[in-house]
Amino acid sequence: MRDLLTSLDSTRLGFYKSILEEAEIPCFIRNETTAQLTNIFIMPLQPTLCLLNDTDYDQASALLGSYRSSQPASSEEWLCLSCKESNPVSFELCWNCQAAKPE
Ligand SMILES: [Zn+2]
Repeated sequence: MRDLLTSLDSTRLGFYKSILEEAEIPCFIRNETTAQLTNIFIMPLQPTLCLLNDTDYDQASALLGSYRSSQPASSEEWLCLSCKESNPVSFELCWNCQAAKPE
């Protein structure tokens, strides 16, 4: 197992996780539940995207790196009208307040 990416933004980690899963790279998010339950981020409990296989690390980081550089932020996120949080375009409801995605 190897940590790939740590971020306070668990929504973004989930977004990257879905990219890795599409590429059939086994991965999971550690501490995701803790962060969602408490909404307080303490260093050891930061959500972390982890790879099951160390050997996937180079491929995974290259995949996310190319994805991030090829996609402008504006096209991969939408802004919640209720709470002003940004959401990945694949989300139909706001991760923070469950408001519906604006048309
Ligand atoms: Zn919201």
